[in-house]
Amino acid sequence: MTDAANRPLPAGPLPPGSVIGMLGGGQLGRMTALAAAKLGYRTHVFCPDQDSPCAQVTDRATLSSYGDEAALEAFARSVDVISFEFENIPHDTVAFLAERATVRPGAKALAVCQDRLAEKDFVTAQGIGTAPYSAVPTEAALEAAVMAIGLPAILKTTRDGYDGKAQTRLDQMRDSGGAWEKIGGKPAVLEGFVDFAMEVSVIAARGADGAVVCYPAVENRHRDHILSQTIAPAPITPALAAEAERIARTLAEALDLVGLLAVEMFVTLDGRVLVNELAPRPHNSGHWTMDACATDQFEQFVRAICGLPLGGTERVADAVMTNLIGDDVLEVPAILAEPGARLHLYGKAEARPGRKMGHVNRLIPRAS
Ligand code: AMP
Repeated sequence: MTDAANRPLPAGPLPPGSVIGMLGGGQLGRMTALAAAKLGYRTHVFCPDQDSPCAQVTDRATLSSYGDEAALEAFARSVDVISFEFENIPHDTVAFLAERATVRPGAKALAVCQDRLAEKDFVTAQGIGTAPYSAVPTEAALEAAVMAIGLPAILKTTRDGYDGKAQTRLDQMRDSGGAWEKIGGKPAVLEGFVDFAMEVSVIAARGADGAVVCYPAVENRHRDHILSQTIAPAPITPALAAEAERIARTLAEALDLVGLLAVEMFVTLDGRVLVNELAPRPHNSGHWTMDACATDQFEQFVRAICGLPLGGTERVADAVMTNLIGDDVLEVPAILAEPGARLHLYGKAEARPGRKMGHVNRLIPRAS
């Protein structure tokens, strides 16, 4: 695949009026398109879904499958730069587009972040810790992996997992019996269970000129494996926060990406910071920045992929972001009645269980 990140960069920033091509039509694309409009850009979204949250707010939308080469060809010709709002876009689609347009972040970031095993190998190669892990390419390899890693452990598919999907916990040897079927019988990785004190994340932005800025480390609390709340900043020592930021910066540089890199990490009970997962795009744990930072993550993403200077990442207030998942959306009238609550809804018609419908940011006044 052509690594578009290594192609000669267009001279200077994309001028206002340029078109950002966005693969994927979810809420991350929607909030990126809104930020793009604020900076004078247009967005053309490409996704297979009718009435997607993103298409509701973009200048143009192509409704097509990721395998439709004629549609991809026309899309590539209609835009000035291409990015994506989720990393599980088929490899062939991105390869096809990268031959025809600049794709940011580039192929390396995608290849690494689409595959849990490649991701862990990459992180380890940078001298950064992860949970202990072992490849489980076939069911037959599971027993040896359990012997190597020990229990409890979590078996995760290497590809296409998100929000705790396609993974299962093993507490005793006998649990390994149905585990392979449970995750869909696909190549997997077995991870040792980390007895963490806290889950944190840092979002790093890297510009076309190689400049890197990081948002402050935040704490992430999950409910049923789905992010429920982000606490900004994370209540950790300055030394741990600095270590989490160092890790995010190191990985963004090593991936040579232009755009955002969200790094999810565990802080262990003995004070180590281990990487759990990478996402080369805006991230749910960065939604608090929309109301509490000098430049929010979506504008930062647009700035990076369009070759603009990066904006400030400083926190103007502490904040708590709460996701509205499924029926939580029934709380909207009460949230609207709450002074200071900042509501963001994604335009999804149906509130299914586990579906992210929106989020609310609550700012915490600083003690003077
Ligand atoms: P993931 O899909 O890998 O982000 O996992 C979803 C959530 O499961 C994480 O945010 C953690 O709360 C939990 N989890 C995943 N991997 C581990 C692990 N190795 N040890 C402990 N908890 C984990």
